[in-house]
Amino acid sequence: MDNITSIFREKKLKLTPQRIAVYKYLESTKEHPSAETIYKALQPAYPTMSLATVYKALKTLVEVDLIQELNVGEGNFRYDGNVSMHPHIQCICCGKVDDIEGLDFSNLNSEVQKHTDYEILTNKLYFYGVCLSCKNLK
Ligand SMILES: [Zn+2]
Ligand SMILES: [Zn+2]
Repeated sequence: MDNITSIFREKKLKLTPQRIAVYKYLESTKEHPSAETIYKALQPAYPTMSLATVYKALKTLVEVDLIQELNVGEGNFRYDGNVSMHPHIQCICCGKVDDIEGLDFSNLNSEVQKHTDYEILTNKLYFYGVCLSCKNLK
């Protein structure tokens, strides 16, 4: 809690219970949930919190770089409490999103820089496949 308080203070964010709840939830999960999923997960503890409030809290947290928004395609937004640059993979059957760990893409931008006169600022890497549990269902 102290940690969140100081992080929010540093970002000059008002500590609203909704923002704290959304941030804490994202910190605690590696599932890359959608706004809808976050809303449902927080319902029991925050029965008065609306989906619109969840969206607003997410937007604010993205703006101050406390969380990242992933657009895995067709306006399918997912949220990640891990703001470091890391590649993601989505299952095309069940839609779940996972991190790809243990791969170092830190020199990717400089590699790509050699092939363009754009100044590279960032990149987002998404891979698509079939997860183990969906594969086992077949
Ligand atoms: Zn799957
Ligand atoms: Zn991630």
